[in-house]
Amino acid sequence: PYDMLIIGGGPAGAAAAVYAARKGIRTGVAAERFGGQVNDTLGIENYISVSMTDGPKFAAALEGHVKDYKVDIHNLQRAEKLTPAAQPGGLVEVELANGAKLKGKTVILSTGARWRNVGVPGEAEYKNKGVAYCPHCDGPLFKGKPVAVIGGGNSGVEAAIDLAGIVKHVTLIEFGAELRADAVLVKKLESLPNVTIIKNAQTTEFTGTNGKLDGLNYTDRVSGEARRVEVEGCFVQIGLVPNTEWLRGTLELSKHGEIIVDTKGATSIPGVFAAGDVTTVPFKQIIIAAGDGAKAALGAFDYLMRN
Ligand code: FAD
Repeated sequence: PYDMLIIGGGPAGAAAAVYAARKGIRTGVAAERFGGQVNDTLGIENYISVSMTDGPKFAAALEGHVKDYKVDIHNLQRAEKLTPAAQPGGLVEVELANGAKLKGKTVILSTGARWRNVGVPGEAEYKNKGVAYCPHCDGPLFKGKPVAVIGGGNSGVEAAIDLAGIVKHVTLIEFGAELRADAVLVKKLESLPNVTIIKNAQTTEFTGTNGKLDGLNYTDRVSGEARRVEVEGCFVQIGLVPNTEWLRGTLELSKHGEIIVDTKGATSIPGVFAAGDVTTVPFKQIIIAAGDGAKAALGAFDYLMRN
């Protein structure tokens, strides 16, 4: 068995692996796709000390750093079931899709999250070419340009307020009859001069020219008419889904499906820790996930010493 078994090989899992290995304990990582969401990122400009890199380069650097140490990497392996230890201090078991069972005295869950897609034509085609999901990451790319935000919940309205300070104009598109964000945020949004709010709008297609987004089409759900907004960027803010489907009913999750953790990354199951986008940690960013992975590994190491 491993002293520390890490599930997920994104920034959180990679950081946990480096911290665990440096304690000289038996460390294993199982990941469906090493690198995680970073693989889908074009430019990364906000990982402090690295002015500019790209996703594949950053993912390769994560893997390279982990491989500097003695860590067993089970890449392209999907975890499907977690069984808590029979007694405190016992072994936690994780079953993989291929039927293999891995065991750890401690387990760190760092399976990340995924942005919910609108699921209309053009979205995949113009992803990273105008269609974006992370305002903190990609907002500055659209400085002085017209953009749209899809989604009128807290994240969409926060994104629109944030972007309004950078871009030329923001069109916020909401499917329902009202914005669902907190009243204070809606009031703030409505006070901004360079923001238009469109409600009852169902996005039907993203369009582009020369491989770059040039706008989106939507249906006015009240009149049934087809309409269009011309933008160079569109931020999709209709939810971030944590990869915890396989853990439902096993440990405590928030109402959004995130793993609930304490300040040391401990979950509701003894010996099982969690880190990064899959948890309740606020603000889903690479640098935050990496720090969180380091913290959970130290939390798990502390647990090992006491059990
Ligand atoms: P993830 O990166 O999601 O990694 C999860 C890992 O778990 C992966 O290895 C995955 O394969 C694995 N996994 C999932 N389920 C299972 C399972 N059942 N069994 C085994 N393995 C599993 N952040 C920034 O700070 N700057 C940016 O510029 C930036 N740009 C972004 C651009 C895009 C398009 C996207 C999608 C995100 C961006 N982010 C950016 C956010 C950032 O990528 C995430 O916050 C970060 O990757 C989270 O790290 P993580 O390790 O928690 O999870």
